[in-house]
Amino acid sequence: MKEKIYLDNAATTKLHPKVLEKMLPYLKEHYGNPSSIHSYGRKVRVAVEESREVIADFINADPSEIYFTSGGTEANNFLITGIAKTELSESGKNHIITTKAEHKSVLETYKNLAQKNFTAKLITNKELDKLKKFVNANTSLVSTIHINNETGKINNLEKIKEQISKPFFHVDATQSFGKIKIDVKQLGIHALSASAHKIYGPKGIGIAYVKSRTPMNSLLFGGGQERNRRAGTENVPGIIGFAEAVKIAKKNMTANFKQVIKLKNYFWDCLKESGINNIYTNSKINSSPYILSITFDPHYYSNDPESTLMFLDINGISASVGSACTSGTLKPSHVILAEGKSEEYAKGTIRFSFSPENTFEEIEYTTGIMKKLSG
Ligand code: PMP
Repeated sequence: MKEKIYLDNAATTKLHPKVLEKMLPYLKEHYGNPSSIHSYGRKVRVAVEESREVIADFINADPSEIYFTSGGTEANNFLITGIAKTELSESGKNHIITTKAEHKSVLETYKNLAQKNFTAKLITNKELDKLKKFVNANTSLVSTIHINNETGKINNLEKIKEQISKPFFHVDATQSFGKIKIDVKQLGIHALSASAHKIYGPKGIGIAYVKSRTPMNSLLFGGGQERNRRAGTENVPGIIGFAEAVKIAKKNMTANFKQVIKLKNYFWDCLKESGINNIYTNSKINSSPYILSITFDPHYYSNDPESTLMFLDINGISASVGSACTSGTLKPSHVILAEGKSEEYAKGTIRFSFSPENTFEEIEYTTGIMKKLSG
């Protein structure tokens, strides 16, 4: 068994060697600013626009509908705030809807808007099936996550869209982009967020897709980059790396998907067969094969997430409790709580997230460690 087992691919992934290879010239010799009109700048501008085309094509968008951001967090902030504020000033609508199980970068943006003349309605996952009932003439925006980063739950975007004809529809696709097919036109999505570092691309680069003619403000003020909607010199090596990661993801998407299904199912079977009792999965129905969230029943186990993580880490296994963004504080996961589970249940929850590079041997070893943990 190798020394370390990385089962935290929903937090981030390692950089693909081909991505690094493509990025290096843009960190070394091609260092021009894409806004410069001399040859250094022009060379880089061409590469940025080619990357935009690759990424746009991947989700069936037009290149002019893609804005580069610093990642999923910024894309969520930019899209939600931009659409909500513009709609308020143009049509007076101030009602915005999302779910309680969103990533913090969506929830905190809604919270911020709620302090600024907006009425933010946060619904549960169950209520998402009856979304229509929450939409009114004053609703400007509905935002939902595509694949939940903690449980892996896949939201049915077609069903959601069917229920909202008028409001703008934003999707946080940070965990689904590059893993399952997304066609923004077919789905009728107005805005979408994605991030490179979840698909073997570099950290600090993402995209905001904005359907043309969607009312939209910029979040950052300064230069006229990204067609006046995202000021700041572009992260050129990041953009180049992101496009390469997308090319690789596109080629391998189906094979990767099949492989991680096997790994996830094998892991759950191993856990059940190992004789660990009173363990549940939060990722069985309609869930991404990339994520397995499990819970030690708090009626039988005294769960301490910090000790759990440390025990796994000491034994060479990297996993996660709650989302990575909040795991510094190790608060019980708001996603699990939003599903109506108790704090104690949330504390017993561990997220394993896979890469097709993980092996069955790693799964068997991890099962053994989980068995020790339960004992
Ligand atoms: N949304 C979801 C669903 C995520 O999983 C993450 C990353 N944890 C983000 C948004 C934020 O993305 P980034 O790390 O690129 O800011």
